[in-house]
Amino acid sequence: MNSLDNVEDLRRMVRRGRESGMSVGFVPTMGFLHPGHIRLIHECRRENELVVVSAYVNPAQFGPAEDFAMYPREIERDRDLAAEAGADIFFSPDDETMYPGGVGNQAVWVDPGNLATVLCGASRPGHFRGVATVVAKLLNIVRPDRLYLGQKDAQQAIIISRMVRDLSLPVDVRVIETVREQDGLAMSSRNAYLTDGERREAAAIHRALAASEDAFQRGERSARLLEVLTREVLARDAPRGRVEYVEAARLDRLTPVTAGIAEPALLAVAVHFGRTRLIDNVILNPRLEKD
Ligand code: AMP
Repeated sequence: MNSLDNVEDLRRMVRRGRESGMSVGFVPTMGFLHPGHIRLIHECRRENELVVVSAYVNPAQFGPAEDFAMYPREIERDRDLAAEAGADIFFSPDDETMYPGGVGNQAVWVDPGNLATVLCGASRPGHFRGVATVVAKLLNIVRPDRLYLGQKDAQQAIIISRMVRDLSLPVDVRVIETVREQDGLAMSSRNAYLTDGERREAAAIHRALAASEDAFQRGERSARLLEVLTREVLARDAPRGRVEYVEAARLDRLTPVTAGIAEPALLAVAVHFGRTRLIDNVILNPRLEKD
């Protein structure tokens, strides 16, 4: 595996691969790799001849009171894990490489509009603008055929898919199922922040969503009722958690579903445990037959 930190080397190496007829897959991450990221790299390996993994903690997507400074970083370990998972190129740029002259010097941004102001965007102004902009930059640097994203960050995957469509970017987006701990907790670099007690309670997030998914499969279509059911399980099993939102949203435009779920919807949750903010979701698709 080649480990690179500058744009010119990366472009040269990808160009060489492409010229010899290789398809290029790309997995962007913020590092501190866990089995969720590894799953994305494996999928990328399966479908592409050249696999590029990036690790970059993007300052532009963190709010001033968020965890940018304390976000876990273990770049040497990430490099080993990426190589082991089958990456050909590991790209870990510094801030100056990604934002020459500083993040504040960026004049042009990718603005995801209304998609960025709902769900997580409501409490994280500017977050998805930062995400969309850095992913656009990385896509322009790597120029992959396929881009791999995780379903855990559903709003992010929806926004990036829309960016690709709306800006006619020449890349296929693949969204990969959430990888979970044994008790159902979605794997996340931020799980490392949890105390033992919080960690035990955090499993309730998936349990709550699974209970609602189950009710949905049995025919419950009221968004309001499914939200209430999700909140009830959280209140019962995660008393330390502070629920930021539980919301059913249309999968295509992320607007709230206020009545019955007649179109594919996302049931999404954000819960705070102390200073740790965790998210998860399930897709509720009324068009799919019951098991
Ligand atoms: P991050 O490093 O948290 O920015 O995540 C990098 C990519 O990995 C994003 O596309 C995430 O959605 C994806 N990802 C993070 N956690 C998981 C998980 N538990 N399962 C699958 N994909 C994940």
